Amino acid sequence: MKKAVILGERKAGLVEVPDPVPKEDWALVKIHATPMCTEYKGFVAGRQSQFLGHEAAGEVVAVAQPCKVKPGDRVVVMPQYPCGKCELCVAGDYIHCEHNYNFEKFTGSPEGRATYAQYILKPSWLLPAIPDGVSYEKASLAVCGLGPSFGAFETMGLSAFDTVLITGLGPVGLGGVVNARFRGARVIGVDSVPYRAERAKQMGAEEVLDPRDENLVARIRELTDGRGVDCSLDCSGTVAAQRTCIEATRRKGKVAFVGECGQELPIRVSPDLIRKGLTIIGSWHYNLNLFPKLMKVIQESPIIDLLISHVFPMSRVEEAFEVSASHECAKIILKPWE
Ligand SMILES: [Zn+2]
Ligand SMILES: [Zn+2]
Repeated sequence: MKKAVILGERKAGLVEVPDPVPKEDWALVKIHATPMCTEYKGFVAGRQSQFLGHEAAGEVVAVAQPCKVKPGDRVVVMPQYPCGKCELCVAGDYIHCEHNYNFEKFTGSPEGRATYAQYILKPSWLLPAIPDGVSYEKASLAVCGLGPSFGAFETMGLSAFDTVLITGLGPVGLGGVVNARFRGARVIGVDSVPYRAERAKQMGAEEVLDPRDENLVARIRELTDGRGVDCSLDCSGTVAAQRTCIEATRRKGKVAFVGECGQELPIRVSPDLIRKGLTIIGSWHYNLNLFPKLMKVIQESPIIDLLISHVFPMSRVEEAFEVSASHECAKIILKPWE
């Protein structure tokens, strides 16, 4: 099969590797849509990489034994290789599993674990079915496009009574706008890239503010009768935006962090938490049992098309990476067979 790799600084291309072979209850999926995530960071930094991507939708083409899927099934490929046995996996919170498979040891080959490729291997219980009439491209948004914000909004109980602040309007943040609007919430966004601010507004964000505005928190308070927003969602992974979320959320409000960040965030327990009664959560993804609800967003949201800005054949992966690195995009989808 063909797969895409990063060859050096701003260099990427296709290589030929052996087709993966299914084993036990793992299935072989022919990938038809591969959403790009944060892989562009390695492309820009020149970190060579042979295994790219963790998001996909495709068709089951082979199984080793009877399992939860069969050849011909159209499926979303969920991320990671969790054990399927621990209490987190059984509860549907597999994303937090601490016993992920050693892929190469289990399958006997390093190939078949990345989604910038024509095939992938996956335990069959992590291949939920795509409803009829939903394209592979749109179904693939059920991974990082819509997943992190969906999980966070479920936990926070976001509804039409709420105003939500979304900081960082990259693909995950724009997915947050789709999810928030689907729930009827009022959206205030924060991003400095005009392309992304414009797209968020097209999706129904009422205001998009500039993070460089010195009076940002005061502006958000003005827009919420001086109280602050009910909920906030940080998708930027920056400490400044995390602080904005904490400061701009009302008393007894809720804050969710979904943007990855390894930096320390200063929190003052009394003014930020105790006196304010703030709830702060971290949210990586969503419980697998919520998949049918997330599919409903994909099927029924009137703005879902705006979440995909570009579709590239995988043969043009280098060009796709340049668009991803420019930040002038929403979700970019690669087509591994074109
Ligand atoms: Zn992702
Ligand atoms: Zn597990």
